[in-house]
Amino acid sequence: YLVSKRYKDKTVIEVGSIKIGMHKPVFISGPCSVESEEILMATASKIKRYGVHILRAGAYKPRTSPYDFQGFGRKGIDMLYNVGKSLDMPVATEIMDIRELEYMFDKVDIFQVGTRNMYNYPLLKELGKIKKPVLLKRGFCATINEFLLSAEYIMLEGNENVILCERGIRTYEDFTRNSMDISAIPLLKQLTHLPVLADPSHASGKRSLIKPVSIAAVAAGADGIMIETHINPDCAWSDGSQSITPELLKEIVNRYFPD
Ligand code: PEP
Ligand code: MN
Repeated sequence: YLVSKRYKDKTVIEVGSIKIGMHKPVFISGPCSVESEEILMATASKIKRYGVHILRAGAYKPRTSPYDFQGFGRKGIDMLYNVGKSLDMPVATEIMDIRELEYMFDKVDIFQVGTRNMYNYPLLKELGKIKKPVLLKRGFCATINEFLLSAEYIMLEGNENVILCERGIRTYEDFTRNSMDISAIPLLKQLTHLPVLADPSHASGKRSLIKPVSIAAVAAGADGIMIETHINPDCAWSDGSQSITPELLKEIVNRYFPD
């Protein structure tokens, strides 16, 4: 298998000057959704100052309810691109529909595949035909084997720039949004050469758990952390309850990159 450690020892993915899989940990952060260029800029400029490497925000949002905010689509991509460019930060965002790839291609540095689309094999195959990095999130009910086989779909088409992301799995526990599968991190590091990130925001769904779960994920060997931040989390249009302030994010970053 192309994902296997036997195929290759280590993959380092370069996004601008950032090397994912080399410097540890890489911080990816931003609001769940692009809400406006102003709000995005307000959050992004702070987190950049606090040491975040890559800006992430969603324009196409896979919401459980069709009545919830679905994202600004192409307008959101434009806003994300403008903010990333003016702050000189690479940007990551989710793609749900392959028909949007052409529009997004020159404006996005990392294409995220969300938990719901981990099994969307036509989408994975198309993302395998480009060279830009793909951030593949684990399906919320996916086994490690299914997760790795989804990465294999992308790699088999020729794109070896795949970043894996453990974002929690669904269990009987409903105090948290999902259950962070902490052992998946060292397990994936043992099985594959691909960089492994952790997303404590979607794993826990709770602001108070972001810092301890981030620390645990880095201790377990994660190459990076993805955290949702918002200048005013209680007013976020999506995932506010799991979003933290830039100031709390700074505390987490400072643990690893003291200023
Ligand atoms: C997200 O990253 O905002 C997201 C929707 O994540 P997931 O696909 O892991 O639920
Ligand atoms: Mn979210």
